[in-house]
Amino acid sequence: MGERACSTCGQVWLLTSEHWRTRDLKALLSDENKSRQCKNCRAKRAQSRRKKYEQLSKVKTYRSEYRNRPEVKAHIKAYNQKRNQKPEIKARNAEKKRNYLAIKREELRQWEIENEIPLREKKMTEQEIVATNNYRAATANVEATLTDNEWLAVLKAFDFSCAYCGGEYQVLEHIIPVSAGGGTTVDNCVPACYSCNARKRDMLPDELDDFQAEVIATMWQHLFWVVPLENEDGTN
Ligand SMILES: [Zn+2]
Ligand SMILES: [Zn+2]
Repeated sequence: MGERACSTCGQVWLLTSEHWRTRDLKALLSDENKSRQCKNCRAKRAQSRRKKYEQLSKVKTYRSEYRNRPEVKAHIKAYNQKRNQKPEIKARNAEKKRNYLAIKREELRQWEIENEIPLREKKMTEQEIVATNNYRAATANVEATLTDNEWLAVLKAFDFSCAYCGGEYQVLEHIIPVSAGGGTTVDNCVPACYSCNARKRDMLPDELDDFQAEVIATMWQHLFWVVPLENEDGTN
């Protein structure tokens, strides 16, 4: 059995697992030009690292406690506000925001491509539309539970067309208007075109005399619809 000097303390040890870690031992046995730290030195190094880490996390805790004091918080806020007024900082922040949005938008578009959502002239992606309408509902204190996949299922059910006239899908429409307590939920949201959306206004489903009976029936159906969500593998 051979022996080798530790690369750190220089002590010569037998090549056994008593003195070397298994991985180091393998390296030393397979290549006589390799040098490694002995087990003792490895342990010492690990300990010193741990200590450093503990000190670091102590500092972190202290720092976050300090920053959470109300007077310090107010000071930091005032400082940041003043700082953000500087033209060069303003420009840099605007640039950061632009970059962030560009990346985010690309992610959202990718989701649309993966889910085969047809491209259309629009300002917002479907996920943005869901988020915006959930926000709107939450602000109005009505249900806001629509998920991206639920909205996708609704769009597919209406073949990406206006639920009222079969024309081009342009906006998310609340069957029971938000103002009447209708939420942004899977059973209350349908795709619509601008003109049907404007025509329907704040009317409730039983006030839709303007629309064909068929359309009104579809709306009632949708309000009590349980959406067949797709599984991960694309099956129903
Ligand atoms: Zn050593
Ligand atoms: Zn329409």
